[in-house]
Amino acid sequence: MFENLSNNLAKAIKTLKGQGKITEINVAATVKEIRRALIQADVNYKVAKQITDDIKTNALGKDVLAAVSPGQLFTKVVSDELTKLMGSEKASINLNGKPAIILMAGLQGSGKTTFSAKLANYLKRQNKSVLLVACDIYRPAAAEQLHVLGQQIDVEVFSKVDHKDAIQIAQEGIEYAKNTHKQVVIIDTAGRQTVDVGMMQEIKKLQDTVKPAETLFVVDAMVGQDAVTTAQGFYEQLHFDGIVLTKLDGDTRGGAALSIRAVVSKPIKFIGTGEKLTDLDLFYPDRMAQRILG
Ligand code: GDP
Repeated sequence: MFENLSNNLAKAIKTLKGQGKITEINVAATVKEIRRALIQADVNYKVAKQITDDIKTNALGKDVLAAVSPGQLFTKVVSDELTKLMGSEKASINLNGKPAIILMAGLQGSGKTTFSAKLANYLKRQNKSVLLVACDIYRPAAAEQLHVLGQQIDVEVFSKVDHKDAIQIAQEGIEYAKNTHKQVVIIDTAGRQTVDVGMMQEIKKLQDTVKPAETLFVVDAMVGQDAVTTAQGFYEQLHFDGIVLTKLDGDTRGGAALSIRAVVSKPIKFIGTGEKLTDLDLFYPDRMAQRILG
């Protein structure tokens, strides 16, 4: 994952390894290389500039202990800053409510339906009873897809064939969940090719009506900066609590993972790492930073 970025960062830091101490001059050169590596990885320019300025300030502010080489010290500074960039707090999912309602939002093809099933499976493994609700009224195949996935993980799916009101389906789904004592309801919604007015109005109305404990925005990591721009576009119109970054297994660069938190100010809560329904991980910024730095 993010092999080029890892290699380029390692190369940049390596130049400091032979040096006796950290100075303005050698740090400036290294930081420049780091910025270049981040931009090549499709990290948002402003984010790359901010983090490299912070790395420089912090590295210069540190006294090098006899036991720590400039290279080691610098690696630690970079690791801390990358972690901070991706969000230092541990992301958690809010399951308040009886049932707790989780609303999924995102563009078509982002991996929303797959993630809805992955999350249902993840919660089921924590002994929660879950209902999946198919609210994509435009693509009958989406409800079918959810039924197929639900069967694979043995989670019930609520849908209404030929019904054209997403709000009503959601409400009936929640009613059904209450009657069947489900603890969590995951609502899969319609996606679009782009952020359009109709979709935003529908999802906002859904959010106002069902008042979810958690609204998650699903975005495909493989589209890099476009993922960040889409998340930003959504957030200007729809409040969401966290981001799900899917297809990280296919993302060779890392730009979305590194910049989305800083641009949108919302944490990445989960990552999708494959097409299987178990390919879901909680997102740990510190582990990701360590992975990037090798
Ligand atoms: P939706 O339109 O947003 O509901 O998207 P889907 O859930 O139908 O996913 C679109 C495609 O992306 C499907 O072929 C999924 O198998 C695939 N997909 C979803 N998540 C991941 C992931 O984390 N990794 C990979 N490699 N593929 C994924």
